[in-house]
Amino acid sequence: MKISVIGTGYVGLVTGTCLAETGNEVVCVDIDEEKIKKMSSGEVPIYEPHLDVLFERNIKANRLQFSTSLEEGLNHGEIIFLALPTPDNGSGAADLSFVLEVADQIGKLITEYKVIVDKSTVPVGTTEKVREVIEKHSGCKFDVVSNPEFLREGFAVDDFLKPERIVIGSSSEKATELMRKLYKPFVRSGNPIIVMDEKSAELTKYAANAFLATRITFMNEIANYCEKVGADVDKVRIGIGTDSRIGKRFLFPGIGYGGSCFPKDVKALHNSGKEVSYDFEILDAVIRVNKNQKQALLPKINKYFQGDLKGKTFAIWGLAFKPETDDIREAPSIEIINNLLDEGSKINAFDPEAMTNVKNKLGDKINFASSMYDALQDADALIICTEWSIFRTPDFNKIRNKLVNNVIFDGRNLYDIQDIEKEQITYFSIGRKDIK
Ligand code: NAD
Repeated sequence: MKISVIGTGYVGLVTGTCLAETGNEVVCVDIDEEKIKKMSSGEVPIYEPHLDVLFERNIKANRLQFSTSLEEGLNHGEIIFLALPTPDNGSGAADLSFVLEVADQIGKLITEYKVIVDKSTVPVGTTEKVREVIEKHSGCKFDVVSNPEFLREGFAVDDFLKPERIVIGSSSEKATELMRKLYKPFVRSGNPIIVMDEKSAELTKYAANAFLATRITFMNEIANYCEKVGADVDKVRIGIGTDSRIGKRFLFPGIGYGGSCFPKDVKALHNSGKEVSYDFEILDAVIRVNKNQKQALLPKINKYFQGDLKGKTFAIWGLAFKPETDDIREAPSIEIINNLLDEGSKINAFDPEAMTNVKNKLGDKINFASSMYDALQDADALIICTEWSIFRTPDFNKIRNKLVNNVIFDGRNLYDIQDIEKEQITYFSIGRKDIK
């Protein structure tokens, strides 16, 4: 099939590449000329495991092309995916201007039947709005379908190729059949394509992200309470996770959720509730608790250094909002770094993939180390912000030798308490006892 993807970020590029992988001819469109130039010369502009192999293969096979022209994209595809940003508009609502502006242009350009597929995460009613905007300009037949994306950054290619489910919100049989045909190769193992009305599909995505954010936040509150009463959140986590009604995943406490999705999506759903006079009280609490949780290490750091952080140097391991990505949007690391900089501290940071993005954001306010151990050189303490695998089994001798004060503040509970007790290191984590 001929497919176009408008917006070639984390979702759009993975969608375009994976659809090319199953034999479709794909044109990816983006307004970012630099990005299109890079991709046209064979460079993947983001870090996403396994994406490079598929990207190269499909470019070579002429199934994956790039353009800055929406008109070219629209002429090419029979199915047009919108994978455009829907950021927080500043007051908590989703900013739909990217989606609606492209819809407006589609309305002006469309000359034959197309299926417009909204892959962006959008509030209930947006599919309808997109339809109305296109109709304003065009008498041409078209359908608009909601197809929320559930891929996880860091596992995006695997998630797209083997989705647990595909959700399609559609009121057109013709469009639904085209979507079923397109996705058939991805659900050969029997995972479902769930077809529903557009509004329910739009809400499914927000409900999924809000539920997962709530689950993390609930465990963070349990962890905070553990610290007050001397319980161990690791034990509690295993104790409840083995209950099949609860399950083991998404129960790990830490310094809060970040990223380009959970924070904005929880706020957007909360905000959408307000528009219909519904107060999402749980989400209100989730937003507040997560904001505080991002600061959870700071009182521990302050207490250890007796409030004197001026001139201290902190090594930071992990800048990305989670492992296996270079994405730093709403990353807890950035908040911690900014707080420490405000106190007059210095930062030596290391991340396997996200340093370029942080350099673009913070410039020379912090130092970037060439390895995780170089970051420790002459640092007063180590702070762990992201659970990259390479941080899980470090050489504790090197840590002890390089740090001035032998202390780790671990925001991701990377080490077992029993193991770290043997290492003669002062250790603070989340929801577990301090090792001194
Ligand atoms: P992104 O910021 O990485 O990419 C968006 C791309 O759209 C950018 O490359 C930007 O240049 C481009 N763009 C902006 N305006 C454009 C226009 N007028 N024409 C063409 N291109 C334009 O965003 P993302 O992370 O890929 O997210 C896209 C959507 O998917 C959002 O709604 C997000 O909530 C949702 N989503 C994201 C993820 C994720 O893990 N990142 C997962 C599921 C859903």
